[in-house]
Amino acid sequence: MHTANFHPPDVRRLIAEARRQGRRALAEDAGKQILSRYGLAVPRSAVIGTVEEIEPALGSLNPPFVLKLISPDLVHKSEAGGVRTNLPDGAAVRDAMKGMRGQAASRRLGIDGYLLEETAPSGQEVVIGGVVDASFGPLIMFGLGGIFVEILQDVSYRICPITVLDAKEMIHDLRAAPVLSGARGRAAAPEACLVDALMAVGGPGGLLLDLADEIAEVDINPLIVSSSAIVAVDARLILAERPAHENR
Ligand code: ADP
Ligand code: MG
Repeated sequence: MHTANFHPPDVRRLIAEARRQGRRALAEDAGKQILSRYGLAVPRSAVIGTVEEIEPALGSLNPPFVLKLISPDLVHKSEAGGVRTNLPDGAAVRDAMKGMRGQAASRRLGIDGYLLEETAPSGQEVVIGGVVDASFGPLIMFGLGGIFVEILQDVSYRICPITVLDAKEMIHDLRAAPVLSGARGRAAAPEACLVDALMAVGGPGGLLLDLADEIAEVDINPLIVSSSAIVAVDARLILAERPAHENR
């Protein structure tokens, strides 16, 4: 049994706020808050706007840091210099922020702020996606990060809600599945972590079913699976154009 459409209050508020601002997609920080409400781990983070805000924000975060540009005009942040990883300290964060500000200005990108976050434990990158299809309802997609999804199109799909067995099959259906099991000297990605993440997105009461009337597409690219955890380090949630209750 699943409780569809319970929309935790803060999730509803984040979506309503994005709609009020006329956005097509949620900003990354808002998207990650939503992911975490459905049980996915995301890096600890702070949203900052100026260099003066760096030091206070760093107090609660562990290095190395990642800094990302939050811009409504940017989809692929790293292609526009909008992601800097491995920043050891506040001085490095400040330099990265200045560089990003310059890049954004030269590309005429709006700046909503900067997402300063912790580095996820290293591991295999995987991708979980979802679309809400007009005839099938929510569909969930799974693949491995980088070339596996983008070039080899080695992905698996299921109609939601998925069961734990579906989630396991989605993993083993991939041609690249041996990479996840530790082929070629790579560390094995714990299957239980992958299954939990797939269920959080596509399972009963998962994000896709619960937000099917609000969200058109979800792209979590990537999640990083280490020996002990799976962390969603990017989140793109595209809003449905006409929610069932838009006049509420
Ligand atoms: P893009 O908009 O370019 O997809 P991402 O947020 O996915 O930007 O970041 C680009 C890459 O940087 C990711 O694919 C991942 O390899 C790395 N990365 C981003 N955030 C983190 C993080 N918090 N911890 C570790 N690696 C990260
Ligand atoms: Mg990404």
